[in-house]
Amino acid sequence: MQRHIGPVKLLLVEGDITQQQVDAIVNAANSRLAGGGGVDGAIHRRGGPAIMEETRRRYPEGCPTGSAVISTAGELPARWVIHAVGPVWRGGSHGEAQLLASAYRRSLELAQEHQCRSVAFPSLSTGAYRYPMDQAAQVALQTVIDFLRQQPGSLQEVRFVLFGQQAYQTYAQVLEKLLPEAESSQG
Ligand code: ADP
Repeated sequence: MQRHIGPVKLLLVEGDITQQQVDAIVNAANSRLAGGGGVDGAIHRRGGPAIMEETRRRYPEGCPTGSAVISTAGELPARWVIHAVGPVWRGGSHGEAQLLASAYRRSLELAQEHQCRSVAFPSLSTGAYRYPMDQAAQVALQTVIDFLRQQPGSLQEVRFVLFGQQAYQTYAQVLEKLLPEAESSQG
């Protein structure tokens, strides 16, 4: 599924984030940048040890929840990995939505600061961190749409890479509500 936000393409695909041919892929990291399962495990497995060596050296303090840091991408097809730290879901009244939105915004800023034309996101916080998929999709898509309307910068494409059909369907339904096809085709 695809939409346009002014000149920028917003694309939803089902797939594996580590396989994406884009300038930057976003990792669902933890605040110690310590490595884990899910997206993070897949990125370090396929990207090799250089990524963790770099994040240890450059970001020994880790990265606060709601923010992101950037490294090179080792053996991955992308040039950069943006390590974003989304919130752990604790019921929804602990600032989770604000923290999740802020992790997406900081990732987009870092992509622009590194002149990226394309960036791919996984669905942050919806695995080990248990953020409900539909609510996460709402925050993720609204945040990206607002950002691209305000400051597209170098970006020409933002891609969400959803793991499995159910995640894809959830994001597609939310995007259809936020940007119905007829409206989007008028620009
Ligand atoms: P978090 O700790 O932020 O919840 P996870 O990596 O556990 O991060 O999960 C985030 C989302 O990424 C989940 O919806 C999970 O299904 C999905 N996911 C897991 N592996 C991959 C992958 N290789 N590519 C894209 N998405 C993935």
